[in-house]
Amino acid sequence: MKPNVAAAKAELSHLDMDESPATIRNKSRDFFWYSPVLKAEMDHLEADFVVNPKSEDEIIEVLKACYKHDVPVTMRGGGTGNYGQAMPLAGGCVMHVTGMNKIKEIGLGYVVAEPGIIIKELDTELKEKSGQELRMVPSTYSQASLGGFIAGGSGGVGSANWGALRDLGNINRLRVVTMEEEPRVLDFTGEELHRVSHAYGTNGIITEIEMPLAPAYDWVDLFVRFDTFRAATEFAGALAAEPGILIKLASVYAAPIAHKYFQRVKAHVSESDHLCGVMVAPHSMDGFKTLLDRFDEGEVIYRSDDVKWDRHPGPVFEYGWNHTTLRALKFEKDLTYLQVRYGDDIEKIMEAYETFSNDLYMHLEVMREGAGLSFAGLPIVKPLDKAGLDKLVAAHEKMGCLIFNPHRYTLEEGGRQAADQRQLDFKREADPKGLLNPGKMITWDEPDFDYSDMYSYAGILPKPEAAE
Ligand SMILES: Cc1cc2nc3c(=O)[nH]c(=O)nc-3n(C[C@H](O)[C@H](O)[C@H](O)COP(=O)(O)OP(=O)(O)OC[C@H]3O[C@@H](n4cnc5c(N)ncnc54)[C@H](O)[C@@H]3O)c2cc1C
Repeated sequence: MKPNVAAAKAELSHLDMDESPATIRNKSRDFFWYSPVLKAEMDHLEADFVVNPKSEDEIIEVLKACYKHDVPVTMRGGGTGNYGQAMPLAGGCVMHVTGMNKIKEIGLGYVVAEPGIIIKELDTELKEKSGQELRMVPSTYSQASLGGFIAGGSGGVGSANWGALRDLGNINRLRVVTMEEEPRVLDFTGEELHRVSHAYGTNGIITEIEMPLAPAYDWVDLFVRFDTFRAATEFAGALAAEPGILIKLASVYAAPIAHKYFQRVKAHVSESDHLCGVMVAPHSMDGFKTLLDRFDEGEVIYRSDDVKWDRHPGPVFEYGWNHTTLRALKFEKDLTYLQVRYGDDIEKIMEAYETFSNDLYMHLEVMREGAGLSFAGLPIVKPLDKAGLDKLVAAHEKMGCLIFNPHRYTLEEGGRQAADQRQLDFKREADPKGLLNPGKMITWDEPDFDYSDMYSYAGILPKPEAAE
């Protein structure tokens, strides 16, 4: 089946379309360039056209026309995905949904909104109108869309208390449109949510979202300095584990990250200082200080409710999650990163810290997981080529760490390294022609792929030389 792009475009010409080549190129790109490997492989990718639907009806029109003419469709929200999720591997249509940005209902403990709303705008309105806020947001809060977060993200600021997006109760309901001759509109709750959450828009288009809310607070941002990485890590873990202290963020930056890459923090730390960045609810500050006093080391060098620094550092969460790497990249363009899950084993983290000290600077985020905690690692990795990165990944896996490989564009390689049967089953039903974000789900293209040899997958992209 050969796509007939011209016919699809002609049928959709009454909708808001971007015609300028520069805009089409821009809207075909996300934060894939974070990875030197993806940068080399994906830089040339471009959609044939971009359409900006303003309603579910317009989305259905786009899907019907593209289905009829066999044109691939890749969704785009804020375009901040760092795995190349929103990049059209097979060209075709990019559907940009930030024009679908209405808040439909705010209730006690929940909000119903359209997928294109920018998370910061949603949160600001929630606070103003109801004194509530989203439980968790990505650190790209001011650029990312709600739909893109659900389809491409995993957790973030708030996960220290609420866990990951995939955890039960962190998404209430998703309304999804299928890619068929006559698209169906389905409402998913419960186990069905896993069909389309974190599926990169490969098996359905999210058109309405109901999210749970938490009370909003004027969070106190703090930086706490430590002499040792172990003490900083133990403190962040203990803080997140303390049931009576409400926090939203507990990040750990091993030396010399803060001194080297955090411009506005640099004057207040030395090269050997390890730092925690935390967000604490105002009513929990007494508990926070009491816990810190129980540690032999740990000095608060910054708090947002009593700023003594000449230059305001901005929100502490914009130092955490993937923003740590972003800040480092501003200083050293060749740096890169990994996404690791260590579980709750601090000794394993210390082993990784020692073992990989020549290759990377440790950066941790504490997340709640089930009844306990898990440490996510987003270390800053010194310049390495693809083979070097693969070696580093293999060494982590040998140590028992789970890698969410950010140098790969498929769902499986960037995820839990296994086929997700629920996502595949739904794709078979909802996208029979395989037109939604093609090439991102290995199990669709190669149902018999052997995941024990994970990184042998060749992908659907030609090598960059061949793409010239
Ligand atoms: C500096 C930086 C920091 C980050 N921090 C975090 C973080 O803290 N936590 C985190 O989880 N991620 C983080 N990310 C990754 C990314 O920002 C988040 O996943 C973000 O929420 C994506 O939102 P977006 O609107 O930009 O999505 P996009 O990049 O536009 O899209 C993401 C994916 O969702 C699909 N999609 C978009 N809209 C829809 C829809 N309506 N229906 C179906 N599919 C859709 C796209 O096709 C794509 O596959 C970070 C990235 C960067 C570069």
